[in-house]
Amino acid sequence: MSNPINIVIVGGGIGGLSAAVAISLAVTPTPKVTILEAAKELSEIGAGIQVAPNLTRLLVDRFGMADAVTKHAIAPRFVRQVRWEDGRELTRANLNENDRCERAFGHKYYYLHRVDLQGMLLARAVELGVDIITSAKVVSYQHIADIGGETVTCADGRAFSTDLVVAADGAKSRLSEYVLGAQVPVTPTGDSAYRATLPREQVVEDPDFASLNFEEGSVVWLGPLAHVVGYFVRGGSTYNLVIVVPDDDKERNEETWKLKGDPEKLRSHFAGWDWRLRKLLDKVDAENLYLWNLRDRPMLPTWLVPEAGNLVLLGDAAHPMLPYVGQGAASAVEDAVALAECLFHADKQNWALRRAIEVYQDVRRPRTDKMRMAGHKNRDYFHMIDGPEQEERDKKLATNSDVEKTPNQLDDPETLQDMYGYDVYSEIRRALGAAN
Ligand SMILES: Cc1cc2nc3c(=O)[nH]c(=O)nc-3n(C[C@H](O)[C@H](O)[C@H](O)COP(=O)(O)OP(=O)(O)OC[C@H]3O[C@@H](n4cnc5c(N)ncnc54)[C@H](O)[C@@H]3O)c2cc1C
Repeated sequence: MSNPINIVIVGGGIGGLSAAVAISLAVTPTPKVTILEAAKELSEIGAGIQVAPNLTRLLVDRFGMADAVTKHAIAPRFVRQVRWEDGRELTRANLNENDRCERAFGHKYYYLHRVDLQGMLLARAVELGVDIITSAKVVSYQHIADIGGETVTCADGRAFSTDLVVAADGAKSRLSEYVLGAQVPVTPTGDSAYRATLPREQVVEDPDFASLNFEEGSVVWLGPLAHVVGYFVRGGSTYNLVIVVPDDDKERNEETWKLKGDPEKLRSHFAGWDWRLRKLLDKVDAENLYLWNLRDRPMLPTWLVPEAGNLVLLGDAAHPMLPYVGQGAASAVEDAVALAECLFHADKQNWALRRAIEVYQDVRRPRTDKMRMAGHKNRDYFHMIDGPEQEERDKKLATNSDVEKTPNQLDDPETLQDMYGYDVYSEIRRALGAAN
């Protein structure tokens, strides 16, 4: 690959933008990178995103975005898990208190608003010369065998020819059908997630909330079949709530981030819960409430189109994540960095692109499936029904023994090392070295 390659990325979400940034920074000679995004403009909705150290590492060390991150992010001291009924603290895990994350993993733990993360990636992509074309909904893909090129076509008939297609078109990926030959099967999880935001004043000026110490970090109410997570985003100006409850409409097969939630329906799930949580939910209005039906997909057998084509899946298109361990955005950005390194290496070693994308998927598939399974485990831990198992969990949390493993996997040093200590850059360099 001595000439600059041409790359089309389908989708301008966190995955697509990260791929554009990572590739523009890593690959030489600098490829021509174009993002095709279906929306008229890059969506300005969404709520909080947890930026664990494995993601901070990439935003700061690989993308050079330290200033933008610190400008918008909140660095929580703790995450406190409390009992659903009365808000009694069950356990408290340090995040940035005593620089725990920095000392253990080299980077801080942050909370960011999705819009801020997307905005800073967009600014970086533009700075690096990425061409972003909106109102470009890709409807088909073709591998042209005789010239060895790829073409994608938009709904309005525009066609783009390229060396490589990166399909970052989200959980309902159209392009994944070319990989699997059929639509990706989806299973309802039985849960829905509401996402709400409140202005800072409504939270900090109410003395009833003082005992929950919101400024210190996030609060997670663990309860039967449901949980609620609250934390500040946007430099502390907005309080973000993620509220996971049993799905009340299993027939609704709509998966969209734009579906509005009904505040009364939301509140109906919380009769008998901590009165301070109910008061918080009373403040939520319809304008700032969205509903997301959680649907699960098994690990895909492959992320590449069959045989010779150069189309590869990335981010939610490859592995939609459920929001139980906060690794969705992190996984998409890790994919981006891994893919960029594979393309860089392919150029240096004169590999075919296909070989590069094979190494990418071999490294990323098992890792993303592991995060998916960690999410399932956390769901069971969060949503225990009151009874002997829950009592045992709470007893172990209260004991906080150094000898016995904590049931909270997000405070277990071994699990955290695996999750937050993971450096995709080193992992992919190792795999590429072995593949030479
Ligand atoms: C609007 C929105 C709000 C979100 N809010 C949150 C949140 O609050 N918290 C959280 O943890 N996660 C949120 N997520 C999910 C999170 O951003 C993703 O899990 C993660 O970042 C992976 O991103 P992705 O780029 O792979 O997929 P996505 O973020 O889904 O991005 C896919 C992009 O592809 C575009 N696209 C789809 N089909 C086509 C096509 N055929 N042609 C061209 N473009 C196409 C979409 O318009 C979208 O911009 C949100 C996602 C979206 C889309």
